[in-house]
Amino acid sequence: MKREKFDSFWLEKKEYHTNSCGLFFEVQKVLYAENSKYQRIEVIENEFFGRILFLDGLVQTTERDEFYYHEMMVHPALIAHPHPQKVLVIGGGDGGVVREILRYSVEKVDFVEIDEEVINVCRKYFPWLKKLLGDERVNLFIDDGFNFVNKASEKYDVVLVDSSEPVGPSVSLHEQEFYLAVKSKLTTQGIVVAQMGSPFFHQEELVRKFTFLKDIFSKVYFYTSPVPTYPAGEWGYVFLSDKIDPRQIKRKPPKGLKYYNAETHQRAFLLPQLLAKLRQDLG
Ligand code: SAM
Repeated sequence: MKREKFDSFWLEKKEYHTNSCGLFFEVQKVLYAENSKYQRIEVIENEFFGRILFLDGLVQTTERDEFYYHEMMVHPALIAHPHPQKVLVIGGGDGGVVREILRYSVEKVDFVEIDEEVINVCRKYFPWLKKLLGDERVNLFIDDGFNFVNKASEKYDVVLVDSSEPVGPSVSLHEQEFYLAVKSKLTTQGIVVAQMGSPFFHQEELVRKFTFLKDIFSKVYFYTSPVPTYPAGEWGYVFLSDKIDPRQIKRKPPKGLKYYNAETHQRAFLLPQLLAKLRQDLG
């Protein structure tokens, strides 16, 4: 489509995917820009994507395309588990993942976010967060995810790791020790889903994680979905379990979703050759 606005009067916010390429957004309004104890938090308004949350300069969520990521983080696991009741969310301070879980009749959602400022900012600028924090099934903990898992006396049916990229406060959430701790807090049919970054830009990181994950869980499935504002427009996830194969699902998804359905579920697990080969080479 022809770009009609090609002058440079607009303030632009850029996300660098590497030192030499990335994505830019025109900034119609800066709504918030401060440093918290852990990271730089920014919320801008963009004409096309609406409100966009950046942490340390990286897009976390946008009003217009958040549903791709949040639906695909949650529904594959919640549909695959036969009776998900206790769910743990680590990270995900914008609340999109918790919002999707609450579509099911779960008993409780423990929601562990390290940065209280992210919660305060998102409560103001992403209204779904304020609403779900009022739901009596949701327990919010301001804590480090690894620390919380180590201390937890509870076991969970599903654990969703909605971490930021492996820099800053989330580094520990990308290590073997964390996944060993998470596994020890799973019920027998338990499932873990974690975001795995861009299969194109973050391949080394994907290989590093897969190498230790396959020693911890007997079933390790990569899957992907579009997310227009994440690097390369396609995002990777991993589904981990000792019992459940996500390709054999029988339950129907909740109504009112925008991306996830039985077909997109199956499609997500069909790996392009680049990932299928990686998966095969890693054993
Ligand atoms: N899906 C998004 C992405 O990849 O762009 C990430 C969304 S979410 C906003 C990530 C959240 O994880 C942030 O709010 C961040 O503060 C939180 N976080 C980072 N490290 C954490 C930790 N160690 N424990 C708990 N939460 C953490």
